[in-house]
Amino acid sequence: MAPDRDPLILVLNAGSSTLKHASYQGLHCMSQGTIECGEADYPSTIGKLLNDASWNAVAFRIVHGGNDLTAPVIVTDSVIETLERTIPLAPLHQPPALSAIRTVGSLLPSTPRIACFDTAFHATLPEVEQRFAIPDRYIQTGIRRYGFHGLSYESIASQLHGISERAARGKTIVCHLGNGASLCGLDRCISRYTTMGLTPIDGLIMGTRCGRIDVGVAIHWMREGMNAQQIEKILTKESGLAALSNGTSDMRALVERADEDPRCALAIEMFCRSIAKEVAAAATAIGGLDCLVFTAGIGENSDVVRRRVVARLQWLGGAIDEQANQRGETRLNTLSSSFEVLRIATDEQQIIAGHAIGLLKRSEAASL
Ligand code: ADP
Repeated sequence: MAPDRDPLILVLNAGSSTLKHASYQGLHCMSQGTIECGEADYPSTIGKLLNDASWNAVAFRIVHGGNDLTAPVIVTDSVIETLERTIPLAPLHQPPALSAIRTVGSLLPSTPRIACFDTAFHATLPEVEQRFAIPDRYIQTGIRRYGFHGLSYESIASQLHGISERAARGKTIVCHLGNGASLCGLDRCISRYTTMGLTPIDGLIMGTRCGRIDVGVAIHWMREGMNAQQIEKILTKESGLAALSNGTSDMRALVERADEDPRCALAIEMFCRSIAKEVAAAATAIGGLDCLVFTAGIGENSDVVRRRVVARLQWLGGAIDEQANQRGETRLNTLSSSFEVLRIATDEQQIIAGHAIGLLKRSEAASL
């Protein structure tokens, strides 16, 4: 790495139909964007991004690290083999990410590739929260609660000390409410509880995912002749807010239409209830509630959702300052609220860039 400038990092987040990219110089974001493209287009699309600068590293957001990858790593052949074994745990997310990693490896073979995992932040979950009540022989095959959105929770945890010592040193529940939604119970900024499980289907109602549901529903459909792909499609792409409103999963549209369309009103009500109920469960699991944080697209932008969630937690002593809420300030609770309520913007890409820089420095120090 040239000693006279901060390293240049390209951050890639490969999804099933989009490739999100961001370029960083040190921790400063220079540009970012989203390209609609599938894996077949990666050689040309990623090729163009790689030509934009002389990158010190390319860093990837990877949804699942499985049991073995619990911290950011420099990608080697053995990391790729380990990641291949995680494909059955996240069949929709892992293949495009692996394909992007391979494409960069073939186009820029001597540039370090760095992988950061959404599951890694939850490696600290205690066994009582990781374990499902199923026989040991299945636990041994990796069936357990992993949790996701870890890079977002890490971003929030890294900002808490600068915002509230009570939140940073105490019990904080972070609600990541985007198209995917989950929450995380932090004790002193360490993950001790989360709502997503083996897959990102579990927990909160989401844009198009059902969230917590009786697994008997899936068994019933299998008896009726549906296969795994059909059930997965219903529960991940056709459910959630989109199913309840019979149309849209966009919270802005739901709020606009709620007065005249009872299905949109129901979708918002069920979404906010599912969040408040899980906050209570998380508070029980971590043994208290000092601070509730709202983040991601809906959490950062929807005063309606924040107000309704905190209203349902009034019995716990929560109270929101409605003016601060509507203005979208950082601190939203009233002085009399028993717990703090904060609105904090998440920045997963910056966390990934930071890990890449840290790993580059460590590998350079090791090779000196
Ligand atoms: P992703 O999980 O794809 O990263 P985001 O964190 O960008 O998602 O969140 C997307 C969600 O944020 C959408 O449901 C969208 O409706 C919602 N959203 C964005 N802006 C607003 C807003 N001003 N008011 C309400 N919801 C919003």
